[in-house]
Amino acid sequence: ESKRGGRNQFNWFKDEMFAELEKRREIEIDLRKAVLLDQFKIVFQPQMSFEQQKVSGFEALIRWDHPVRGEVAPLDFLSVAEETGLIVEIGTWVLAEACKTAVTWPEDIAVAVNVSSIQFEDDGFLTAVGSALEKSGLSPHRLELEITETTLLKNDSVVLERMNDLRALGVRISLDDFGIGYSSLNYLRKYPFDKVKIDQSFVREPFADENAHHIVEAVAQLGTAFGMNVLAEGVETVEQLARIRQNGCAAIQGYLIGRPIKPAEIGSFLEVPLPELASLQSPPKEGS
Ligand code: C2E
Ligand code: MG
Ligand code: MG
Ligand code: MG
Repeated sequence: ESKRGGRNQFNWFKDEMFAELEKRREIEIDLRKAVLLDQFKIVFQPQMSFEQQKVSGFEALIRWDHPVRGEVAPLDFLSVAEETGLIVEIGTWVLAEACKTAVTWPEDIAVAVNVSSIQFEDDGFLTAVGSALEKSGLSPHRLELEITETTLLKNDSVVLERMNDLRALGVRISLDDFGIGYSSLNYLRKYPFDKVKIDQSFVREPFADENAHHIVEAVAQLGTAFGMNVLAEGVETVEQLARIRQNGCAAIQGYLIGRPIKPAEIGSFLEVPLPELASLQSPPKEGS
């Protein structure tokens, strides 16, 4: 009996696996077309600096307008794009497009672009960054590249050399989703990041318990001591904002400040003052 159960289970598993493979194959085929047919677009999510009390930049987030499925979220297609190597082509497009959009913004507003580890390692990456800057005319210091710990798991000296080459171009580098991997603190010491983005799971309930706050505080102190700009991701409420600020973070990103918006909406977004912040004026400095 148990034998038959086992076989059924195996068949079920086989079916599931087959369905999963089939789905990925479909996504792969569609992804190849998507690049050719120009089905990708970028939305931009604001980041705010506490010190300047204003929007300091926007993160570029890719969206796929699938002709049948509708809008497909990045997490539903990026892994296939990485496995097939298509991420290099897609990522190059995002870079160029993000720079082209950002050059139309006020000079003091930066653009952050996510870079997959496969794209980061690609031989053509440095050229892709250089050409996105050159073709758009964007000042290199306005471009931030966001990489994650996955990229840092590779050969140290190769990663370091690439980071230094990028910094020589004048672009800045952020460490994204900080804290969800491991041996993270060492990464802060080892690599020359300009910014560290603390992962949403430390900021938002139900994950943000008392211990999470201590971690945020420690990372904010350490990052700041290393000369990095420390940003907290995923801030949705005024309470979270107040706590993050108390914990010593210099900047935030999250639905409270703004959801990702279309390029055409950025002009008017920048004209409207950030309403939630009006109630949270800076505490008076000591001695003033
Ligand atoms: P990420 O780089 O950590 O980007 C932040 C993600 O959190 C975005 O999801 C954003 O919409 C979402 N988010 C921001 N604030 C909040 C908030 O307050 N609450 C909640 N619930 N969510 C918030 P999105 O756009 O779905 O992107 C998911 C991930 O996909 C990104 O995480 C990034 O790792 C990857 N990704 C997006 N665009 C690109 C791209 O152009 N290239 C590469 N390689 N990866 C990308
Ligand atoms: Mg990011
Ligand atoms: Mg992130
Ligand atoms: Mg993420």
